[in-house]
Amino acid sequence: MASNVDVSRIARGTPGFSGADLENLVNEAALQAARDDKSRIEMADFEKAKDKILMGSERKSMVVSEEDRRLTAYHEAGHTIVGFVLPGLDPIHKVSIIPRGMALGVTQTLPEKDSLNLSKSKATNMIAFLFGGRAAEELIYNDVTTGAGNDIERATDIARKMVCEWGMSEKLGPLSYEKSEGPVFLGMQYGNKTREYSDAKAEEIDKEVFGIVDHGHKTALKILTDCRDALERITEALLEFEAIDGHEVDLLVNGSPVSEIRKIRNNSTGSGGGININS
Ligand code: ZN
Repeated sequence: MASNVDVSRIARGTPGFSGADLENLVNEAALQAARDDKSRIEMADFEKAKDKILMGSERKSMVVSEEDRRLTAYHEAGHTIVGFVLPGLDPIHKVSIIPRGMALGVTQTLPEKDSLNLSKSKATNMIAFLFGGRAAEELIYNDVTTGAGNDIERATDIARKMVCEWGMSEKLGPLSYEKSEGPVFLGMQYGNKTREYSDAKAEEIDKEVFGIVDHGHKTALKILTDCRDALERITEALLEFEAIDGHEVDLLVNGSPVSEIRKIRNNSTGSGGGININS
């Protein structure tokens, strides 16, 4: 193993991994190093291995039109800025517009520590973060695409859980509106959740869920409108470098031009284009 491997950072980026998952990560990193004819496994190999396991293999051969690349860059830049600005969210670790699996781009956050509890404020901010991509599309293109389908599904899911399971809605109070039924097998729930409320209540719940989601959407739009310049800078950087790390995001949001990132990258060659992230 090379001396630049920061084990604590690998640990931070792999919350919830079992021993076997970590073994797989080390194997994957070793394969990565061997593929590049290295005699030692470097931090960059661990990073690539982790990305592959968490997000699927890179599909560099996939043909993406310039138009789609630009849209993806704006979309990911939108997530990034909302995630950066709102308090209490996990720090941005990496943003990339290299297609992986089914995704054209990804904004990866890295928890500071394993956290098993979600506060209401963090849940609320997560919804806004999830809407960052869609909000950027609206702002730049005045139109929306199917690219945010998964984001919207996740945001709606969080909002519904806030109201129905976690008692986080002031209007509906700390009540559970959903009862799980059916056997649980390997952590998967089979069978449906039963409804424990009237039609009138159902309408109230839908309204409340809509309110939370709508608030997240508007928060994302407001942040991106206020940070329009940063949105352009991050998009430009993504189009040029394909992937940027948390430290670079920090610089760009705080006003550094893309040329400065280029200069820093040129000065730090020799690290193999590796990722330098502030922790
Ligand atoms: Zn998205």
